[in-house]
Amino acid sequence: MSRLPSRPLRLTLAVLLILVGMALCAGLAQHQARQRALHSGTNQAEEQLGLYLNNLRTLIDRYRTLPAVLALDPELREALAAPVDAASQARINHKLEAINGAAHSSTLELLDRNGLAIAASNWRGPHSYVGHNYGFRPYFLETRSQGTGRFYAVGVTSGIPGYFLSSAVRDAQGGFLGAIVVKLEFPELEREWSASPDILLVSDAKGVVFIANRPGWRYRELLPLDAAARAELAATRQYDKQPLQPLTHRTLQPLGEQRRLARVRGPEGRRDYLWQALPLPSEQWTLHLLREPREAAQAGRSAALGAAGAWLALVFLGLFLHQRWRLARLRQRSRLELERLVEQRTAALRTAQDGLVQAAKLAALGQMSAALAHEINQPLTAQRMQLASLRLLLEQDRGEQAAAVLQRLDEQLARMSALTGHLKTFARKSPGGLRERLDLALVVDRALQLLEARLHQEAVELQLQLTRPAWVRGDAIRLEQVLVNLLRNALDAMAGLSDRRLQVSLHATADGWQLDVQDNGGGIAAEDLPRVFDPFFTTKPVGEGLGLGLAVSYGIVMELDGRLEAHNRDAGACFSLSLPAAPDEDSR
Ligand code: ADP
Repeated sequence: MSRLPSRPLRLTLAVLLILVGMALCAGLAQHQARQRALHSGTNQAEEQLGLYLNNLRTLIDRYRTLPAVLALDPELREALAAPVDAASQARINHKLEAINGAAHSSTLELLDRNGLAIAASNWRGPHSYVGHNYGFRPYFLETRSQGTGRFYAVGVTSGIPGYFLSSAVRDAQGGFLGAIVVKLEFPELEREWSASPDILLVSDAKGVVFIANRPGWRYRELLPLDAAARAELAATRQYDKQPLQPLTHRTLQPLGEQRRLARVRGPEGRRDYLWQALPLPSEQWTLHLLREPREAAQAGRSAALGAAGAWLALVFLGLFLHQRWRLARLRQRSRLELERLVEQRTAALRTAQDGLVQAAKLAALGQMSAALAHEINQPLTAQRMQLASLRLLLEQDRGEQAAAVLQRLDEQLARMSALTGHLKTFARKSPGGLRERLDLALVVDRALQLLEARLHQEAVELQLQLTRPAWVRGDAIRLEQVLVNLLRNALDAMAGLSDRRLQVSLHATADGWQLDVQDNGGGIAAEDLPRVFDPFFTTKPVGEGLGLGLAVSYGIVMELDGRLEAHNRDAGACFSLSLPAAPDEDSR
């Protein structure tokens, strides 16, 4: 059999369960809210990224036409057709300088068919391109073969990175004469972008970051470069002397095409970012936006707090309801218990009362048998004497006198047998619920008969006023016991007097019969009056009074829907017994 765990253990388990439930709820809510916030965050980021991409594309497009238009300039064509002289070189230098200033590009340069710069807008500066050969640069090779070229690179002369856009300059027959190249630098773009709270990066086809709005992010490899790529970088001197460093990153959670949650070991240390990428196919570049998922974390925290609160509220509600239910059950149980107890006590009392009735009866019987022995002894002695005189009368043949003596003998015997017969029934325990219709006057007769010896002996002056018949319902034997009790008490009260008067009257009242037993024994002390019906209340010496007589009598009378009252009247006490009448029609 499994035992219930102890109370402290149960309590600990409950608290643990509540905590685990709370953690689960909070965790789930946090996860959900974070996911939602992450997705909405990437949607926003994508929109923004689109704006930045447009920004970049417009910038490039604006300058793409510049070399194409300049390639048609006859002066440039002419300069490239034959070896250039100093005068025309100076003129072209000035011209490129002026156009560059007007177009707001970084530099403009003119390369001959071998890639040698014969003129440039920065001819005055310390890093003038003029005289340098750029034949190795991919944009030049592309222009020579395809007519246009584009290439992002760190300037080998200036060391300044920029985007080179070039167009071929051709003669009338379409022969390649050289290339006109415009260089764009992006410091302005980077400055503009640096206001953004997000990290913005542009990477080339090889995955090398060359534009970044934060220091330290430029010249980073997003993908490890293979040997071929490295060789190509060396040949084109694309990033020239700039050392390329890897940018370690790992996807924590993919969030769709070109978007993910990533852990990045960047220049600012290890951080998690929402990483969104958008390709710019025309240049084979990719624009990246990295955003710290602060909103998602915040949303997650709020949701977790909310869920934990809701969980606790639910738990407390549950506990409250449970407690109420337990209380109601407890109340119901104690009510039932109380009812059971009351029933038990009532039954016990009933038994006790029955026992008391019986005990009082036996006590009365004991006293009575003494009186009875005395009472019977006397007539027996008398009868023996009468028998002796009867014998004499018969011997002397005095028949008439003998008959009279016989008559007296007969009467005495009849009374004695009535007395004993009555005692027999009195001693028997009568069933409680008996309710026969009976004449109360007859009950009085029988009770007086039982006590006749004592009445006679104590020379009591008896006054009887009995209305006959007085029909009531009850148990004759019990009622008789009540009367014997009342009469005996009266006799006891008058014990010390020389002049004893006992009045017994029975008369009709509005709804029944009233029997008064009145003595002249001095009455009951005022302070005892409310207690005479209490069990074991007695003023008689030890051994004489049990204090049960009136208590038992009271119980018997109450059981018959009657009343038993005590009061002082004239020179003594008066006990009144009232019982409801039992009319004739009930007799059947
Ligand atoms: P007991 O007779 O054994 O004392 P009862 O219950 O019959 O017990 O009586 C209780 C007490 O009531 C008596 O001891 C007595 O003090 C008082 N009492 C009863 N009847 C009378 C009476 N007629 N006159 C004076 N006192 C009485």
